[in-house]
Amino acid sequence: MEKVDIKSLTMEELKDFVKELGLESYRAKQIAQWLYKKRVSSFEQMTNLSKEVRKLLSEKAELHPLKLVKVEESSDGTRKYLFELRDGNRIESVFIPERGWNTICVSTQVGCPIGCKFCLTAKDGFTRNLTPSEIVEQYIAVQRDVGEERRISNVVFMGMGEPLLSFDNVKKAVEIMTNRDMLDLSTRKLTISTVGIVPGIERMAKEMNRVKLAISLHATTDEVRNYLVPVNRKYPISRIMEVLRKYPADNNRRIMIEYVMLKDVNDSLEDAKRLAKMVKGLPVKVNLIPFNPYPGAPFEPTPREKIEEFQKVLWDRNIAAFIRESRGQDISAACGMLRTKERGCKITEN
Ligand code: SAH
Repeated sequence: MEKVDIKSLTMEELKDFVKELGLESYRAKQIAQWLYKKRVSSFEQMTNLSKEVRKLLSEKAELHPLKLVKVEESSDGTRKYLFELRDGNRIESVFIPERGWNTICVSTQVGCPIGCKFCLTAKDGFTRNLTPSEIVEQYIAVQRDVGEERRISNVVFMGMGEPLLSFDNVKKAVEIMTNRDMLDLSTRKLTISTVGIVPGIERMAKEMNRVKLAISLHATTDEVRNYLVPVNRKYPISRIMEVLRKYPADNNRRIMIEYVMLKDVNDSLEDAKRLAKMVKGLPVKVNLIPFNPYPGAPFEPTPREKIEEFQKVLWDRNIAAFIRESRGQDISAACGMLRTKERGCKITEN
């Protein structure tokens, strides 16, 4: 029989598992503490469990720690990690120290099936969804690496992959991250970023609406968006806006609109005006993202002054708009770069 991937279990599932093994119900909490608070790497280390229980656990369950392949640190403190999964696939995570708190950016899939034109991860295509434990282990491995005194309080699901195409696994990872007896993070400090998978957003509204929602919009016309984000043909801008209008958000819990600034593609002042009109009345915060170029990238970043002009158009129309500070510029900044580099692949133009 296949062993249970114990860190993919939510607290409820862990309780059921413990019961199936014939153990006392309070053991679930004890095991969770060893896994998520003390972060042990084997059942052997769970010393308040008897030898027999530890043996039983190691027969029935297993731990899948990530293998750290490489870490790069930027002069601004950003740390970029390349991890290897049990099956040899590789994923990236990023530690981002901010003023007063620390954030981790986690991956949710190996590769990505969306194929955004400006995104490096897209070039590799899609391999598979990450399991809940593979998502949670990114947090654990990075927290261990940076040290407990630099506690990571915020998690953004903005790494490789499209989280809402792996809804169940992401939801379980969120449950494990926010359960008091597990990672105990505040739900409000988690952000899920999606390209605009409408049924996924509808499910989020019902099942995970305390997690923050970020939408990667990147265009103000379907023509441009169809080109940049091909899934727009399935879920066009109007459908995304419709679902956002119904989303349970307010000014204390705003929806983030992400907009990668691509020179002469989506950065005109007309775009800014259209964007302002489109989101008017919605509790949003617009995040203008300077494009991170990589060798062979088919786009150029919008010059800083132009991003500021774009931002001003939004502010003049009472839309909160911020320019995302580019972090880790002196390391493999674009998502997917570390993985590509380490494989020794040449990034080619297309
Ligand atoms: N699939 C999800 C999450 C992963 S992408 C989504 O699309 O939201 C996370 C963010 O990084 C997205 O807003 C994406 O558009 C942006 N991004 C991807 N490649 C980038 C690059 N080279 N430069 C700047 N932002 C990029």
